[in-house]
Amino acid sequence: MMDFVAWKETSREYLKKGLPPQALLWSGEQSSLFDFNIPDDPKNIVLSPRVPKEFLELAEFAACARDPDRWNLLYRILFRLQHENSKLLNVLVDEDIHRLHLLSKSVRRDIHKLHAFVRFKRQIINEQESYIAWHPAEHFCLKLGTPFFVRRFGDKPWSIFTPDESAHWDLQTLHFGEGMQQHEFEVEDPFDDVWKTYYKSIFNPARLKIKAMKAEMAPKYWSGLPEAEIIHDLIRNTPKRLQDMAEANTFLAKVPATSDWEEIRTAAKNCRACPLADKATQTVFGEGPLQTPLMIVGEQPGNEEDLSGSAFQGPAGQILNQILQELQFNRNKIYVTNAVKHFKWTPSDDGKARIHKKASGQEMHACKPWLEAEIQKVKPTVIVALGVTAGTALWGRLVQIQKERGHWHTQSPFAPFQILSWHPSAILRSFTEEERQIRYQELKEDLRKAIDKAFN
Ligand code: URA
Ligand code: SF4
Repeated sequence: MMDFVAWKETSREYLKKGLPPQALLWSGEQSSLFDFNIPDDPKNIVLSPRVPKEFLELAEFAACARDPDRWNLLYRILFRLQHENSKLLNVLVDEDIHRLHLLSKSVRRDIHKLHAFVRFKRQIINEQESYIAWHPAEHFCLKLGTPFFVRRFGDKPWSIFTPDESAHWDLQTLHFGEGMQQHEFEVEDPFDDVWKTYYKSIFNPARLKIKAMKAEMAPKYWSGLPEAEIIHDLIRNTPKRLQDMAEANTFLAKVPATSDWEEIRTAAKNCRACPLADKATQTVFGEGPLQTPLMIVGEQPGNEEDLSGSAFQGPAGQILNQILQELQFNRNKIYVTNAVKHFKWTPSDDGKARIHKKASGQEMHACKPWLEAEIQKVKPTVIVALGVTAGTALWGRLVQIQKERGHWHTQSPFAPFQILSWHPSAILRSFTEEERQIRYQELKEDLRKAIDKAFN
């Protein structure tokens, strides 16, 4: 993608050739020369352009604006500064100059918000601490906006993602890469919970001033903050807050007292024990042989599973299938299920897609009786828990994948042997190709171990 430095070099060349703005068409990616039959005019040639410092300062910010016409605007002003009026910048009523100021101001504001609203999440990767954040930037403001974080947090490696671009600090250099949509950026962060509990404990509903809060921090920015979920909850429920919290704790699925498996499945199909059922299409119950030594427990159904009614069908399921195929193992021999049986989602900004949301502790708790019923029925020798949610549901405490994956757990009432591993979506969300490879191989290794233990 074109950046300011490249634009400066290219436009210097164009000025030397005497190309007028009408002969060029710049787009966000590159500039193209269009043959508009503009006759060569030697008087257009500028060998040493005069570029006021003030223009460069404004242009550097304006160049980051989300405006497909920005490069054209900048070249037009540059050209006019040479040929029309070297004091053009003082003509504030000039349409181009007015626009230059507007864009530059808007980008400055965006950078200010970046500095104010980025919240890093702590991650342990290869036993190393690192921090990552997602931020809904309006413009392409990372190149100008992230040196601030190097000064503030230069002693830690971090990455900041926006929908269009990303910035990465490795303690030595700052480099830039591709962006990420918010739903792709889902990091399990135990610190979120700590933070939320803290926030809740200091939050006083009587003093809630929604207007002031909105002025301080536009709701658009709330989504990236760990406390956002709580803010929404609290705003909605302020008067009845305590009562609602008490009620919420009573969500619990009811498994019929019968040994008839079909009856249990039907009851699960009709479960309405927690609010997730209202927005989802159907219950996605576990599937596979009821007599098998191996059970895999995932997190919760995603978009595709919600529509098809079967677990692990979408992108995560494809990773699982690929690994099992590489291990030459037939998935039909495994009972595959999830810790939570209904899809939890929120509409995308344009309302067209359903974005996966992590189930809360309450929802995991509400749904657990179904998982227990499945385990009781199948009585597996080995359970593989994929990801934090599955591990947490099974072991009743927050698990840490980096620390605990790959080891046998023999202290659980659910099965003689349990093993925790990467969730396939964590592989899909890897930062780097190297990390993706490592996680993929580790999941494969853990699954191989589980298959060997269960079937040999
Ligand atoms: N992720 C899960 O944890 N389970 C599924 O069934 C699909 C995606
Ligand atoms: Fe019932 Fe679980 Fe669905 Fe909640 S998520 S309604 S507990 S099946």
